[in-house]
Amino acid sequence: MNPLNSLIAASLPLFPRLFIKPFAKPYVAGETIDEAIQHIKALNEKGFAVTTDILGEHVKTLDEAENVTHSYIDLLQAIKEQDLDCHISIKPTHLGLDVGYDVVRDNLFHLLETAKTTGSFVRIDMENSPYTDASIKLYLEAKLQFENVGQVIQACLRRSWDDISRLNGGNLNVRMCKGIYRESETIAYHDSKTIQTQFVDLVKQVINGGGYPAIATHDIFIIDEIEEWLVENKISNDRFEFQVLYGVPMDGKLEVLLEKGYTVRKYVPFGKDWFDYSIRRLKENPKIITYVFKNMFKKD
Ligand SMILES: Cc1cc2nc3c(=O)[nH]c(=O)nc-3n(C[C@H](O)[C@H](O)[C@H](O)COP(=O)(O)OP(=O)(O)OC[C@H]3O[C@@H](n4cnc5c(N)ncnc54)[C@H](O)[C@@H]3O)c2cc1C
Repeated sequence: MNPLNSLIAASLPLFPRLFIKPFAKPYVAGETIDEAIQHIKALNEKGFAVTTDILGEHVKTLDEAENVTHSYIDLLQAIKEQDLDCHISIKPTHLGLDVGYDVVRDNLFHLLETAKTTGSFVRIDMENSPYTDASIKLYLEAKLQFENVGQVIQACLRRSWDDISRLNGGNLNVRMCKGIYRESETIAYHDSKTIQTQFVDLVKQVINGGGYPAIATHDIFIIDEIEEWLVENKISNDRFEFQVLYGVPMDGKLEVLLEKGYTVRKYVPFGKDWFDYSIRRLKENPKIITYVFKNMFKKD
């Protein structure tokens, strides 16, 4: 871990919001639903599908969890009214997992009902390892009643091969990502090559099991490795998609993927909680500071 990044990350909460905003701005689509809708519309016009997320996590009361759920319902209605190509992503602790499992389940099911009527899809983001079991349980329960729900698996976790083996099958819809949280070595691989290899193998495992992977990475090695395998094995384009975070420069790679006829979906977060969220992420993963500085000098 770069000590300078860790030092910057630790002191960030001391900086005023105005100072931090320029760093968060490329990655966050405003604070309100109206602002987010404008960003999503512009991305759709460029050919990108979107999944959008209201920033926030770890709510502590029932009221807060219900308010978040209602904001997501307003968001789903706005997406429908504007006829956008856009799903939603939610975090279990934002819908009330810390308040109680029943709370998050009820809120998620409420959202899934609405999403069914608006023709949308809900992705359950994966948080840090204390929440992995509850998130998978939530997905499995939801899947019994709804088709429009997807899971996330983190390739860095040692348990992920077993999790995919358990979840695998024709109706599995899973976003594969490396995992953004800092986990201990007993829980997660730390070696980047091992994580890359497990990522690629897990995606192949999902495809071979008949499931639908969303390949969520900016790592060109992984994208190229998987794409080559998909082409070699004549996997049709409707059996997977690529996903990236809004604002991360990809040097024209995404346009090439679009030209090849693949679905490329951008993850677009927005909301009033952008400051706390950005600080938490930077503290958890100070490596992002290097990315942000590097990317300030690159083009989308
Ligand atoms: C669509 C999407 C959804 C995600 N959902 C989850 C989730 O539910 N749970 C979870 O734990 N993690 C999630 N992540 C985060 C993921 O786990 C990784 O932490 C993140 O994508 C960085 O890993 P990477 O695969 O891009 O590879 P890296 O090796 O980390 O990055 C490759 C290159 O991409 C660029 N880059 C990567 N991340 C950033 C960034 N934040 N800002 C600027 N440049 C960057 C850098 O140039 C870097 O060199 C998600 C990622 C994506 C793309």
